[in-house]
Amino acid sequence: MANKVASLRFIVTAGPTREYLDPVRFLSNPSTGRMGFAVARAARSLGHRVTLVAGPVALRTPRRVERIDVVSARDMLAAVRKALAAGDGPAALVMTAAVADWRPARCASGKLKKSQMSNTLRLVRNPDILKSLGPREKGSVRVGFAAETGEPTVEAARKCREKGLDLVVANDVTQPGAGFAVKTNRVTFVFPDGRIEPQPLMSKDSVARRIVRLAEGIAGRAR
Ligand code: C5P
Repeated sequence: MANKVASLRFIVTAGPTREYLDPVRFLSNPSTGRMGFAVARAARSLGHRVTLVAGPVALRTPRRVERIDVVSARDMLAAVRKALAAGDGPAALVMTAAVADWRPARCASGKLKKSQMSNTLRLVRNPDILKSLGPREKGSVRVGFAAETGEPTVEAARKCREKGLDLVVANDVTQPGAGFAVKTNRVTFVFPDGRIEPQPLMSKDSVARRIVRLAEGIAGRAR
């Protein structure tokens, strides 16, 4: 009989972030949060504790999952840091969120009038959440996503190294049935040792279950 897997503490980010330039306008992307919510549900149903850090999405909170709502990338970074520090023991962080890479250099306190706006919007880089987290606890797991337009595995391998990840879930968002706002996904698992494992087209729930199983394996090996 297989050994029982110890319960882990999952921190899952999901959805887009919004970067406001005034109270009614923002930069964002079409992420619906489905992939992250599926990971949260799968981890919970496999007996793990789950904190879900969600950008603005229209999805119901999975049962018995702690949910923290955030808006911007900087809010998300603060929430992830707090969640990592709050719990006891190492955590499995699964960063499915489509974090906006830039934000407007300033956010006006009132709605900008057309006459006040120029044709140029000045942007600044957002922090990279995964790169900002610092050293990892023994037994912790870090999983990133790489949504690309085109062959995703070369970029994914680079991200795996640069962001110090145990697994990158790569997908080509231009493929039918993959990426934003669909219930299925076709992903490739990319590991730091160079292993590349393409997966068939699956529901996001099935992809989520596989990710949780892989995280359990990685955490188990590190103990
Ligand atoms: O570099 P890229 O944005 O493609 O990397 C994607 C991975 O990095 C995702 O797991 C995403 O959640 C995470 N990310 C992050 N902070 C950012 C941008 C992306 O942690 N500012």
